[in-house]
Amino acid sequence: MKRGIAILGSTGSIGTQALEVIIEHKNLFSVEVLTANNNCDLLIEQAKKHKPNTVVIVNQAKYNKVNSELSKLGIKVYSGQKSLEQIVESENINIVLTALVGYSGLIPTINAIKHGKKIALANKETLVVAGDLITKLSKKYGAPIYPVDSEHSAIFQCLVGENNNAIEKIYLTASGGPFRGKKAAELKTISKKQALKHPNWSMGAKITIDSATLMNKGLEVIEAKWLFNLNKEQIDVVVHPQSIIHSAVQFEDGSIKAQLGVPDMKLPIQYALGFPFRLKNKFRRFSFFDYPNLTFEKADEKTFRNLYLAYRAMEKGGNSACILNAANEIAVEAFLNDKIGFLNMSDLIDNCLEKITFVKSPTIEDYIETDQQTRLLANKLL
Ligand code: MG
Repeated sequence: MKRGIAILGSTGSIGTQALEVIIEHKNLFSVEVLTANNNCDLLIEQAKKHKPNTVVIVNQAKYNKVNSELSKLGIKVYSGQKSLEQIVESENINIVLTALVGYSGLIPTINAIKHGKKIALANKETLVVAGDLITKLSKKYGAPIYPVDSEHSAIFQCLVGENNNAIEKIYLTASGGPFRGKKAAELKTISKKQALKHPNWSMGAKITIDSATLMNKGLEVIEAKWLFNLNKEQIDVVVHPQSIIHSAVQFEDGSIKAQLGVPDMKLPIQYALGFPFRLKNKFRRFSFFDYPNLTFEKADEKTFRNLYLAYRAMEKGGNSACILNAANEIAVEAFLNDKIGFLNMSDLIDNCLEKITFVKSPTIEDYIETDQQTRLLANKLL
Protein backbone atom coordinates (compact mmCIF):
# COMPACT_ATOMS: atom_id res chain seq x y z
CA MET A 1 0.00 0.00 0.00
CA LYS A 2 1.20 3.50 -0.84
CA ARG A 3 1.98 5.92 1.95
CA GLY A 4 -0.27 8.98 1.80
CA ILE A 5 1.72 12.15 2.38
CA ALA A 6 0.57 15.58 3.52
CA ILE A 7 3.11 18.35 3.00
CA LEU A 8 2.50 21.40 5.17
CA GLY A 9 4.43 24.18 3.48
CA SER A 10 4.84 22.55 0.05
CA THR A 11 6.06 25.68 -1.74
CA GLY A 12 9.11 26.23 0.49
CA SER A 13 12.59 24.79 0.13
CA ILE A 14 11.87 21.52 2.00
CA GLY A 15 8.40 21.15 0.45
CA THR A 16 9.61 21.43 -3.14
CA GLN A 17 12.48 19.00 -2.50
CA ALA A 18 10.06 16.55 -0.86
CA LEU A 19 7.95 16.57 -4.02
CA GLU A 20 11.08 15.77 -6.05
CA VAL A 21 11.71 12.79 -3.77
CA ILE A 22 8.11 11.61 -4.00
CA ILE A 23 7.90 11.75 -7.79
CA GLU A 24 10.96 9.47 -8.01
CA HIS A 25 9.12 6.91 -5.87
CA LYS A 26 5.57 7.16 -7.18
CA ASN A 27 5.04 3.47 -6.47
CA LEU A 28 5.59 4.07 -2.74
CA PHE A 29 4.07 7.48 -2.02
CA SER A 30 0.94 9.37 -2.96
CA VAL A 31 0.53 13.10 -2.38
CA GLU A 32 -2.69 13.62 -0.44
CA VAL A 33 -2.47 17.20 0.83
CA LEU A 34 -0.43 20.26 -0.14
CA THR A 35 -0.54 23.57 1.73
CA ALA A 36 0.96 27.02 1.24
CA ASN A 37 0.69 30.36 2.98
CA ASN A 38 0.83 32.78 0.04
CA ASN A 39 2.53 31.33 -2.99
CA CYS A 40 -0.65 30.37 -4.83
CA ASP A 41 0.95 30.16 -8.30
CA LEU A 42 3.41 27.49 -7.23
CA LEU A 43 0.74 25.70 -5.18
CA ILE A 44 -1.51 25.51 -8.27
CA GLU A 45 1.38 24.24 -10.40
CA GLN A 46 2.29 21.59 -7.80
CA ALA A 47 -1.32 20.45 -7.45
CA LYS A 48 -1.74 20.06 -11.22
CA LYS A 49 1.39 17.92 -11.33
CA HIS A 50 0.98 15.82 -8.18
CA LYS A 51 -2.84 15.58 -8.04
CA PRO A 52 -3.47 15.72 -4.28
CA ASN A 53 -6.97 15.21 -2.87
CA THR A 54 -6.88 18.53 -1.10
CA VAL A 55 -4.94 21.79 -0.98
CA VAL A 56 -5.01 24.57 1.60
CA ILE A 57 -4.06 28.14 0.73
CA VAL A 58 -3.78 29.83 4.12
CA ASN A 59 -4.11 33.40 2.79
CA GLN A 60 -7.88 33.73 2.28
CA ALA A 61 -7.48 36.52 -0.28
CA LYS A 62 -6.04 33.93 -2.66
CA TYR A 63 -8.75 31.30 -2.23
CA ASN A 64 -10.78 32.24 -5.32
CA LYS A 65 -7.82 32.04 -7.65
CA VAL A 66 -6.72 28.62 -6.35
CA ASN A 67 -10.25 27.25 -6.29
CA SER A 68 -11.05 28.34 -9.84
CA GLU A 69 -7.94 26.55 -11.12
CA LEU A 70 -8.17 23.34 -9.10
CA SER A 71 -11.79 22.53 -8.28
CA LYS A 72 -12.47 21.64 -11.94
CA LEU A 73 -9.78 18.96 -11.55
CA GLY A 74 -11.63 17.46 -8.60
CA ILE A 75 -9.19 18.83 -6.03
CA LYS A 76 -10.76 20.17 -2.85
CA VAL A 77 -9.58 23.66 -1.91
CA TYR A 78 -9.71 25.17 1.57
CA SER A 79 -8.41 28.39 3.04
CA GLY A 80 -7.45 29.91 6.39
CA GLN A 81 -5.38 28.94 9.44
CA LYS A 82 -8.11 26.67 10.88
CA SER A 83 -8.19 24.60 7.68
CA LEU A 84 -4.44 24.15 7.90
CA GLU A 85 -4.78 22.93 11.47
CA GLN A 86 -7.58 20.49 10.67
CA ILE A 87 -6.54 19.08 7.31
CA VAL A 88 -3.90 16.84 8.94
CA GLU A 89 -6.71 14.76 10.43
CA SER A 90 -7.77 13.30 7.05
CA GLU A 91 -7.98 9.52 6.99
CA ASN A 92 -5.94 8.97 3.83
CA ILE A 93 -2.84 10.59 5.35
CA ASN A 94 -0.13 8.34 6.84
CA ILE A 95 2.73 10.83 7.13
CA VAL A 96 2.59 14.56 7.75
CA LEU A 97 5.71 16.41 6.62
CA THR A 98 5.77 19.62 8.65
CA ALA A 99 7.79 22.07 6.58
CA LEU A 100 6.19 25.22 7.95
CA VAL A 101 8.35 28.09 9.16
CA GLY A 102 8.59 28.86 12.88
CA TYR A 103 5.89 28.75 15.54
CA SER A 104 3.12 28.31 12.94
CA GLY A 105 3.93 24.59 12.85
CA LEU A 106 2.93 23.93 16.45
CA ILE A 107 -0.85 23.47 16.37
CA PRO A 108 -1.01 21.50 13.08
CA THR A 109 1.69 19.15 14.43
CA ILE A 110 -0.20 18.60 17.68
CA ASN A 111 -3.38 17.80 15.73
CA ALA A 112 -1.55 15.39 13.46
CA ILE A 113 -0.05 13.58 16.46
CA LYS A 114 -3.45 13.36 18.16
CA HIS A 115 -4.74 11.59 15.06
CA GLY A 116 -1.89 9.08 15.14
CA LYS A 117 -0.12 10.37 12.03
CA LYS A 118 3.57 9.77 11.63
CA ILE A 119 5.42 13.08 11.70
CA ALA A 120 8.31 13.87 9.36
CA LEU A 121 9.53 16.88 11.28
CA ALA A 122 11.20 19.63 9.29
CA ASN A 123 9.80 22.36 11.56
CA LYS A 124 12.32 22.31 14.43
CA GLU A 125 10.62 25.26 16.14
CA THR A 126 7.73 22.97 17.12
CA LEU A 127 10.02 20.92 19.37
CA VAL A 128 11.89 24.00 20.57
CA VAL A 129 8.70 25.74 21.69
CA ALA A 130 6.90 22.79 23.26
CA GLY A 131 9.19 19.76 23.22
CA ASP A 132 7.93 18.46 26.53
CA LEU A 133 4.32 18.45 25.39
CA ILE A 134 5.03 17.15 21.88
CA THR A 135 7.13 14.18 23.04
CA LYS A 136 4.50 13.22 25.63
CA LEU A 137 1.72 13.37 23.02
CA SER A 138 3.83 11.43 20.53
CA LYS A 139 4.13 8.57 23.06
CA LYS A 140 0.51 8.74 24.15
CA TYR A 141 -0.92 8.59 20.62
CA GLY A 142 1.72 6.25 19.17
CA ALA A 143 2.68 8.84 16.57
CA PRO A 144 6.42 8.59 15.89
CA ILE A 145 8.49 11.65 14.98
CA TYR A 146 11.08 11.15 12.24
CA PRO A 147 13.55 14.03 12.03
CA VAL A 148 14.14 15.73 8.68
CA ASP A 149 16.75 18.16 9.98
CA SER A 150 19.99 16.77 8.51
CA GLU A 151 21.85 16.62 11.85
CA HIS A 152 19.01 14.86 13.66
CA SER A 153 18.44 12.52 10.75
CA ALA A 154 22.13 11.62 11.04
CA ILE A 155 21.77 10.80 14.73
CA PHE A 156 18.53 8.91 14.09
CA GLN A 157 20.31 6.84 11.42
CA CYS A 158 23.24 6.14 13.80
CA LEU A 159 20.79 4.77 16.38
CA VAL A 160 19.17 2.25 14.04
CA GLY A 161 20.04 -1.28 15.15
CA GLU A 162 21.35 -0.18 18.54
CA ASN A 163 18.59 -1.88 20.56
CA ASN A 164 18.38 1.03 23.00
CA ASN A 165 22.11 1.08 23.76
CA ALA A 166 22.51 4.28 25.76
CA ILE A 167 23.91 7.44 24.18
CA GLU A 168 26.89 8.89 26.06
CA LYS A 169 26.83 12.06 24.02
CA ILE A 170 26.13 13.40 20.56
CA TYR A 171 28.17 15.68 18.34
CA LEU A 172 25.97 18.11 16.42
CA THR A 173 27.95 19.42 13.49
CA ALA A 174 27.61 23.01 12.29
CA SER A 175 28.98 24.60 9.14
CA GLY A 176 29.65 27.78 11.10
CA GLY A 177 27.70 29.80 8.53
CA PRO A 178 29.03 32.60 6.31
CA PHE A 179 30.68 34.55 9.16
CA ARG A 180 32.76 31.81 10.76
CA GLY A 181 35.93 33.27 12.28
CA LYS A 182 34.63 36.84 12.34
CA LYS A 183 34.56 38.89 15.54
CA ALA A 184 31.88 41.19 16.92
CA ALA A 185 33.43 44.38 15.50
CA GLU A 186 33.18 42.96 11.96
CA LEU A 187 29.67 41.62 12.47
CA LYS A 188 28.18 44.92 13.54
CA THR A 189 27.77 46.19 10.00
CA ILE A 190 26.92 42.91 8.24
CA SER A 191 24.14 43.37 5.67
CA LYS A 192 21.26 41.00 5.12
CA LYS A 193 22.59 40.27 1.64
CA GLN A 194 25.82 38.94 3.16
CA ALA A 195 23.91 37.01 5.82
CA LEU A 196 21.66 35.37 3.22
CA LYS A 197 24.64 33.74 1.46
CA HIS A 198 25.14 30.35 3.09
CA PRO A 199 28.32 28.52 2.06
CA ASN A 200 26.91 24.95 1.84
CA TRP A 201 23.13 24.81 2.03
CA SER A 202 20.43 26.50 -0.02
CA MET A 203 17.47 27.18 2.31
CA GLY A 204 14.67 29.63 3.12
CA ALA A 205 15.48 33.14 4.43
CA LYS A 206 14.60 32.53 8.09
CA ILE A 207 16.79 29.45 8.55
CA THR A 208 19.62 31.02 6.53
CA ILE A 209 19.77 33.98 8.93
CA ASP A 210 19.51 31.55 11.86
CA SER A 211 22.52 29.71 10.42
CA ALA A 212 24.52 32.93 10.17
CA THR A 213 23.81 33.81 13.83
CA LEU A 214 24.22 30.18 15.03
CA MET A 215 20.67 30.34 16.38
CA ASN A 216 19.89 27.49 14.01
CA LYS A 217 22.41 25.36 15.90
CA GLY A 218 20.99 26.57 19.20
CA LEU A 219 17.50 25.52 18.13
CA GLU A 220 18.92 22.19 16.97
CA VAL A 221 20.53 21.58 20.37
CA ILE A 222 17.08 21.94 21.95
CA GLU A 223 15.49 19.85 19.19
CA ALA A 224 18.05 17.09 19.89
CA LYS A 225 17.36 17.21 23.61
CA TRP A 226 13.71 16.34 23.01
CA LEU A 227 14.13 13.91 20.12
CA PHE A 228 16.78 11.81 21.86
CA ASN A 229 16.05 12.55 25.53
CA LEU A 230 19.42 14.13 26.36
CA ASN A 231 20.70 16.67 28.86
CA LYS A 232 22.93 19.69 28.26
CA GLU A 233 26.19 17.85 28.99
CA GLN A 234 25.37 15.23 26.36
CA ILE A 235 25.11 17.66 23.43
CA ASP A 236 28.32 19.07 21.92
CA VAL A 237 28.41 21.41 18.95
CA VAL A 238 31.33 20.88 16.57
CA VAL A 239 31.98 23.37 13.78
CA HIS A 240 32.75 21.41 10.62
CA PRO A 241 32.85 23.82 7.67
CA GLN A 242 32.64 21.18 4.92
CA SER A 243 29.23 19.86 6.11
CA ILE A 244 30.10 16.26 5.20
CA ILE A 245 29.71 14.65 8.62
CA HIS A 246 26.08 15.45 9.40
CA SER A 247 26.42 14.53 13.11
CA ALA A 248 27.66 11.68 15.29
CA VAL A 249 26.71 9.59 18.32
CA GLN A 250 29.14 8.42 21.00
CA PHE A 251 28.06 5.32 22.92
CA GLU A 252 29.01 4.24 26.43
CA ASP A 253 31.89 2.08 25.18
CA GLY A 254 33.45 5.17 23.58
CA SER A 255 32.61 4.09 20.04
CA ILE A 256 31.43 6.89 17.74
CA LYS A 257 29.08 6.39 14.79
CA ALA A 258 28.66 9.20 12.29
CA GLN A 259 26.59 9.67 9.15
CA LEU A 260 28.28 11.22 6.12
CA GLY A 261 27.31 12.48 2.70
CA VAL A 262 27.39 15.53 0.47
CA PRO A 263 25.04 18.26 1.74
CA ASP A 264 21.66 17.50 0.15
CA MET A 265 18.40 17.84 2.09
CA LYS A 266 16.69 15.35 -0.21
CA LEU A 267 18.45 12.49 1.62
CA PRO A 268 17.08 13.22 5.12
CA ILE A 269 13.66 13.99 3.59
CA GLN A 270 13.67 10.65 1.77
CA TYR A 271 14.87 8.78 4.88
CA ALA A 272 12.04 10.23 6.99
CA LEU A 273 9.37 9.44 4.38
CA GLY A 274 10.71 5.99 3.57
CA PHE A 275 11.79 4.86 7.06
CA PRO A 276 12.87 2.15 7.83
CA PHE A 277 13.79 1.53 4.20
CA ARG A 278 16.70 3.04 2.30
CA LEU A 279 15.41 3.88 -1.15
CA LYS A 280 17.63 3.75 -4.17
CA ASN A 281 18.31 7.15 -5.74
CA LYS A 282 20.61 9.06 -8.05
CA PHE A 283 21.70 11.77 -5.60
CA ARG A 284 25.29 12.92 -5.87
CA ARG A 285 27.70 10.50 -4.14
CA PHE A 286 30.42 11.49 -1.70
CA SER A 287 34.06 10.80 -2.52
CA PHE A 288 36.68 10.84 0.24
CA PHE A 289 39.23 12.02 -2.32
CA ASP A 290 37.24 15.18 -3.12
CA TYR A 291 37.50 16.10 0.58
CA PRO A 292 40.96 15.15 1.83
CA ASN A 293 40.73 17.76 4.60
CA LEU A 294 37.70 17.47 6.83
CA THR A 295 38.24 19.98 9.64
CA PHE A 296 36.74 20.64 13.06
CA GLU A 297 36.76 23.56 15.49
CA LYS A 298 34.97 24.89 18.55
CA ALA A 299 31.95 27.14 18.15
CA ASP A 300 32.55 30.77 19.17
CA GLU A 301 29.71 31.32 21.65
CA LYS A 302 31.15 34.65 22.79
CA THR A 303 30.76 36.22 19.37
CA PHE A 304 27.71 34.26 18.30
CA ARG A 305 25.74 34.73 21.51
CA ASN A 306 22.58 33.12 20.18
CA LEU A 307 24.11 29.68 20.68
CA TYR A 308 24.88 30.50 24.30
CA LEU A 309 21.36 31.91 24.81
CA ALA A 310 19.83 28.71 23.42
CA TYR A 311 21.84 26.52 25.82
CA ARG A 312 20.80 28.79 28.68
CA ALA A 313 17.12 28.62 27.72
CA MET A 314 17.31 24.84 27.44
CA GLU A 315 18.89 24.53 30.86
CA LYS A 316 16.29 26.77 32.47
CA GLY A 317 13.45 24.77 30.87
CA GLY A 318 9.75 25.65 31.29
CA ASN A 319 8.65 28.25 28.74
CA SER A 320 12.20 29.64 28.22
CA ALA A 321 12.79 28.06 24.82
CA CYS A 322 9.35 29.30 23.73
CA ILE A 323 10.45 32.84 24.67
CA LEU A 324 13.77 32.33 22.87
CA ASN A 325 12.01 31.19 19.72
CA ALA A 326 9.39 33.95 19.59
CA ALA A 327 11.98 36.67 20.26
CA ASN A 328 14.22 35.19 17.60
CA GLU A 329 11.42 35.15 15.00
CA ILE A 330 10.77 38.85 15.62
CA ALA A 331 14.52 39.60 15.62
CA VAL A 332 15.12 37.82 12.28
CA GLU A 333 12.16 39.57 10.68
CA ALA A 334 13.43 42.95 11.94
CA PHE A 335 16.92 42.21 10.60
CA LEU A 336 15.49 41.21 7.21
CA ASN A 337 13.55 44.50 7.16
CA ASP A 338 16.71 46.50 7.97
CA LYS A 339 15.31 47.60 11.33
CA ILE A 340 18.15 46.23 13.48
CA GLY A 341 21.76 45.19 13.02
CA PHE A 342 23.18 41.67 13.09
CA LEU A 343 24.34 41.75 16.72
CA ASN A 344 21.14 43.41 17.97
CA MET A 345 19.30 40.16 17.33
CA SER A 346 21.00 38.56 20.37
CA ASP A 347 20.35 41.67 22.50
CA LEU A 348 16.65 41.49 21.75
CA ILE A 349 16.42 37.78 22.58
CA ASP A 350 18.42 38.20 25.79
CA ASN A 351 16.12 41.04 26.87
CA CYS A 352 12.99 38.97 26.29
CA LEU A 353 14.43 36.01 28.21
CA GLU A 354 15.03 38.34 31.16
CA LYS A 355 11.65 40.08 31.12
CA ILE A 356 8.97 37.54 30.18
CA THR A 357 7.41 35.71 33.13
CA PHE A 358 8.88 32.26 33.66
CA VAL A 359 6.45 29.32 33.75
CA LYS A 360 7.91 26.08 35.08
CA SER A 361 5.42 23.51 33.74
CA PRO A 362 3.59 25.16 30.85
CA THR A 363 0.32 23.90 29.36
CA ILE A 364 -0.46 24.46 25.68
CA GLU A 365 -2.33 27.63 26.70
CA ASP A 366 0.78 28.86 28.54
CA TYR A 367 2.89 28.31 25.43
CA ILE A 368 0.42 30.26 23.27
CA GLU A 369 0.33 33.05 25.86
CA THR A 370 4.14 33.11 26.17
CA ASP A 371 4.52 33.29 22.40
CA GLN A 372 2.09 36.22 22.14
CA GLN A 373 3.55 38.12 25.11
CA THR A 374 7.09 37.71 23.82
CA ARG A 375 6.16 39.00 20.36
CA LEU A 376 4.46 42.04 21.90
CA LEU A 377 7.46 42.80 24.11
CA ALA A 378 9.99 42.20 21.34
CA ASN A 379 8.16 44.55 18.99
CA LYS A 380 8.02 47.17 21.75
CA LEU A 381 11.76 46.80 22.46
CA LEU A 382 12.57 47.18 18.77
MG1 MG B 1 20.02 21.35 10.39
